[in-house]
Amino acid sequence: MNDCLFCKIAAGEIPSTKVYEDETVLAFRDIAPQAPTHVLVIPKKHVSGWADAAGEDDATLAHMWRVAAAVAKSENIVDSGFRIVSNCGTDAQQTVKHLHLHVLGGKAMAGEMA
Ligand code: 5GP
Ligand code: ZN
Repeated sequence: MNDCLFCKIAAGEIPSTKVYEDETVLAFRDIAPQAPTHVLVIPKKHVSGWADAAGEDDATLAHMWRVAAAVAKSENIVDSGFRIVSNCGTDAQQTVKHLHLHVLGGKAMAGEMA
């Protein structure tokens, strides 16, 4: 996906502040953080959204949640609490069409989710 921002970040063509990386997944700090900890977890392979994900990507998609939890641990936000969010489509305000998890923490968040 040539024109995808997160594919370019995954390929190192656009710099990011990485917090975790392995063969299939990258975690990096959001450029406009909405909480003291705001990390994005992406598959290195382009997947546009959860509804488009194929079965062959199941292992990577499951691994993303494990990485998100590991990020929460390394950011020391497990005890205070954290939120994992994935915006899907227009109504949910998804702006980058490359599947990602937001890991948010370090402050008391709003009770409402929508
Ligand atoms: P979405 O709105 O699609 O759920 O989340 C996209 C996120 O990507 C936003 O929180 C936005 O701040 C972040 N973002 C957009 N462009 C960049 C960038 O160039 N670098 C980084 N690190 N984050 C970005
Ligand atoms: Zn992409």
